[in-house]
Amino acid sequence: MIYDVQNETMPRDELEQLQLKRLQYLVEKVYYNVPFYRQKFSESGIKPEHIKTLDDVKYLPFTEKQDLRNNYPFGLFAVPKENVVRVHASSGTTGKATVVGYTQRDVNNWAKLMARSFVAAGVTRSDIIHNAYGYGLFTGGLGAHYGAEILGATIVPISGGGTKRQVMLMRDFGPTVLCCTPSYSLYLYETAIASGIDVRDLKLKIGIFGAEPWTDEMRNEIQNKLNLRALNIYGLSEIMGPGVAMECITAQEDMHIWEDHFLVEIIDPATGENLPLGEVGELVITTLTKEAQPLIRYRTRDITRINPIPCKCGRTHYRIERIKGRSDDMLIIRGVNVFPSQIESILLETEGLAPHYQLIVDREGAMDTLEVQVEVDEKLFSDEIKHLQRLEKKIQANIKEFLGVTVKISLVEPRTIERTAGKAKRVIDRRPK
Ligand code: AMP
Ligand code: ZN
Repeated sequence: MIYDVQNETMPRDELEQLQLKRLQYLVEKVYYNVPFYRQKFSESGIKPEHIKTLDDVKYLPFTEKQDLRNNYPFGLFAVPKENVVRVHASSGTTGKATVVGYTQRDVNNWAKLMARSFVAAGVTRSDIIHNAYGYGLFTGGLGAHYGAEILGATIVPISGGGTKRQVMLMRDFGPTVLCCTPSYSLYLYETAIASGIDVRDLKLKIGIFGAEPWTDEMRNEIQNKLNLRALNIYGLSEIMGPGVAMECITAQEDMHIWEDHFLVEIIDPATGENLPLGEVGELVITTLTKEAQPLIRYRTRDITRINPIPCKCGRTHYRIERIKGRSDDMLIIRGVNVFPSQIESILLETEGLAPHYQLIVDREGAMDTLEVQVEVDEKLFSDEIKHLQRLEKKIQANIKEFLGVTVKISLVEPRTIERTAGKAKRVIDRRPK
């Protein structure tokens, strides 16, 4: 099933024409309405009329998270304040929050893109959606909420937290779709077991998981435990919120990025140069239809590649590969670049480990060190210490072999790593600043 057949299956040449038309309109609009953009364009010697082809987007300056902070809170609005009907913000761990504004039309478009994403995941109006994404300033909860409503599905706006109560309601209401972060789905699973509920008795069929990086190995783990099809959803508040890109259930591989609303590029994060189609780099997004706070060439810091191969589902929009991590989260351990997701893959392929881990980065003298704390499962935990030590050595050897770094492995007791209702905190950086 396809929600918006006309737009989702548009021939690529038509889609690109539509993108160009929207890009030209946008560039003109921000040039005349947002002083920040007018100044930036002038510094690079760019005028709206210079954008003649889609490729010309590369002459426009990038927008970065810091630009949103510098213009905190409403400095990047492109419409009068009275036209803004909603704001969201992402807390961020450092500095000021980044704020985003929406007009009524932006909110409606977002709902339609979320509905599109739900349908791509196989959701229909007869489904009951347990929405455990947080409601509030975070975009996850409300984003999924409005999409589900215009699709006509039944939404349970449970938000994050109160995990015991969540599993009770899942037993009583019989939701068929679960929306939350991948890490929270495992927390729900554990809590269900602890409450004497067999998750196989629940009616769940589809999981829509995102907001944090996760791996294919994690997907297998979740699908086996929760007995559902786990699909990847991508989004970020600066651009819109959830529903920027979504895996379709037909291919269940890579996420269609809704190109009638978003123009995507992949750049080399070090040089800012555009990379050829299909190469791995940083995702850069230009919003093509946002009214309140459009962004030009926003550097997402998310590392992925574009998959241009036509999808079996019939949608013509390109797909982006599972996000490998954020360039900010890339660890450089004694000269070797490591993404937490690479460690996750190795851990989850190891028998006896639970899918809960944390990476602790520290510094000894001039050297960065990495400790991997990972929980063992109950069965292994009661095993002899000798066996556990052997397992530590084995994981250490695998990480050395595949990633080329020596790390310290600490096997920890089941349920000792903190669980959260939202995004899991995978990296703890103890290096002196
Ligand atoms: P926020 O603005 O708080 O919604 O956070 C957006 C960020 O969450 C993105 O820039 C990504 O780094 C991350 N994110 C969202 N969805 C995914 C996903 N499916 N896989 C990996 N990372 C994701
Ligand atoms: Zn597809």
